[in-house]
Amino acid sequence: MKFEGIAASPGIGLGPVVRFEPEELVPGDVMLEGAQVGDEIARFHAALAASRRDLESIRNGIAAELGESEAQIYDAHLLMLDDPELRRDVEHGIRTARRSAGHLFRAYMSRIAAHLQSLEDEHLRERRADVLDVERRVLRHLLGGGPRRIERLERPSIVVAHDLPPSEVALLDRRNVVGFVTEVGSRTSHCAIVARGRGIPAVVSARGVLQSVKNGDLGAVDGFLGRFDVNPNETERLDFERRREWSEQEDRSLLELHDQPAVTLDGHAVELGLNLELPAEATGVVEAGADGVGLFRTEFFYLNRLELPTEEEQYRAYREVAERVAPRTVIFRTMDLGGDKVASYLGMTHETNPFLGWRGIRFALHHPDVFRAQLRALYRASAHGRARVMFPMVTSEAELLRALELCREARAELDRRGQAYDPRLPLGIMIETPGAVWMADVLARHADFFSIGTNDLTQYTLAMDRDNERLSHLYEPLEPSVLRSIGHSVGAAKRAGHWVGVCGEMAGDPRTAVLLVGLGVNELSMSSFDLPRVKSAIRRVRFDDARAMAAEALALSSADAVKALLRSRLDRVLSAGGAKGAR
Ligand code: PEP
Ligand code: MG
Repeated sequence: MKFEGIAASPGIGLGPVVRFEPEELVPGDVMLEGAQVGDEIARFHAALAASRRDLESIRNGIAAELGESEAQIYDAHLLMLDDPELRRDVEHGIRTARRSAGHLFRAYMSRIAAHLQSLEDEHLRERRADVLDVERRVLRHLLGGGPRRIERLERPSIVVAHDLPPSEVALLDRRNVVGFVTEVGSRTSHCAIVARGRGIPAVVSARGVLQSVKNGDLGAVDGFLGRFDVNPNETERLDFERRREWSEQEDRSLLELHDQPAVTLDGHAVELGLNLELPAEATGVVEAGADGVGLFRTEFFYLNRLELPTEEEQYRAYREVAERVAPRTVIFRTMDLGGDKVASYLGMTHETNPFLGWRGIRFALHHPDVFRAQLRALYRASAHGRARVMFPMVTSEAELLRALELCREARAELDRRGQAYDPRLPLGIMIETPGAVWMADVLARHADFFSIGTNDLTQYTLAMDRDNERLSHLYEPLEPSVLRSIGHSVGAAKRAGHWVGVCGEMAGDPRTAVLLVGLGVNELSMSSFDLPRVKSAIRRVRFDDARAMAAEALALSSADAVKALLRSRLDRVLSAGGAKGAR
């Protein structure tokens, strides 16, 4: 069986399939015989103990790979298991009412969930999700199912799901998840972006896949071509293995470029940055041969947890990143919550059009206290390395001015406290909306630099949801309207004497990267997989030629024409070695 989907994260993964689907956990309500009471209490305690062991091992694994802050949510779950009232209530019910532990436990947790649901405080209300999570974990043990399969993978496997939220992908066990396939999503959904950041091969938008596979089938994920094969025959399996070997070999040959700069044949230098989501990834900058971090998505700090991170906690994490990346520069993007990144404890609720809703800078400005705490943490971290800060989703001058005012307030507070920070910390913006493109000259008066977020800029310029797999063949950053928006923004930055980068996914494709260099950007920021390929491409072209090609592209009338231009100018030049890319 073969599925065609979208190539979301490069690499080849081969292994047994593990289906990941929502479960029904309903314990039976049986009356116990007197003689069964002791056993039932023991079964209840055993389920709590087993849940505790799962949680501790997940917690420690996550703390080791991703850091303490990501692991904290599990501390709160452990506390719930230790609730003495819970134990008393269930034991009492087993003894006196002779009901089953599962039934009583579920009733107790439902009462707590209902109580939380009734509270005024939005934040407490949202903790209900965690109560339900703990409930399901214990019930799985009571009903004999053990932990969720995705959590207890014992060997390298392929996860197949309808959908995986980015927060879930951030926590996948990388050693045992060698690839995943989802039925929905697109190349620029954050689920795909996190997979690329973590080096997990992935195919998204593979329709109907979940109902067609069984646990234990052999799955082969081709994250280069967007293919997923189930139970391939021997020849096909060998082909997958050969391609995996070829890709590893290509990685090894690209290693030679590690210490080389990204300079064109005629001497034009381009900076190459990494896009990161988690503090633990900051060690990869030197390894990837990058000049710095062009985009650190701080919002992942706010996900997978029950309550706001404190200023202190954020400071420690950002400081660690700044120190690891120094003497190179890290550009921290302030919280870009909303869209597909939802922190329910901040009161985010369902919206009909979340990407057009309470998102990015407008969300941060609605929570000035939360935003100020992040800004103070970032400023304090700036004393320990070379940092810059930028704001996402800016649409108007007023938003930028308000954000800059909050920065002033953050600095004033640090002055009062006598805490160190970099007083010249550059403050920039992302260009991601048509509003920002057309006001770029005005925004450039207040911002120190621009970074063009082409994922969102494409989405908003073409009015196409970046997550909608039905539109994925039309969602195209090479549309001339998007290229003209980029060209216009670069022009405004240059006229103001500002540095300008691109941190959307198109910066990581060797051909479009050359086009962006021709459009005049100073920096390209991407995943660690893409970086050596883009570096190799830049080293094979002349800047003069890239500029001429970009000028031609701006005058074309369709994305197809732009693609044909890139193929005719670059295919021969780039195919003579490692820069071919795998797409
Ligand atoms: C972008 O929109 O291009 C970008 C880099 O930001 P994100 O993908 O996190 O929205
Ligand atoms: Mg964006």
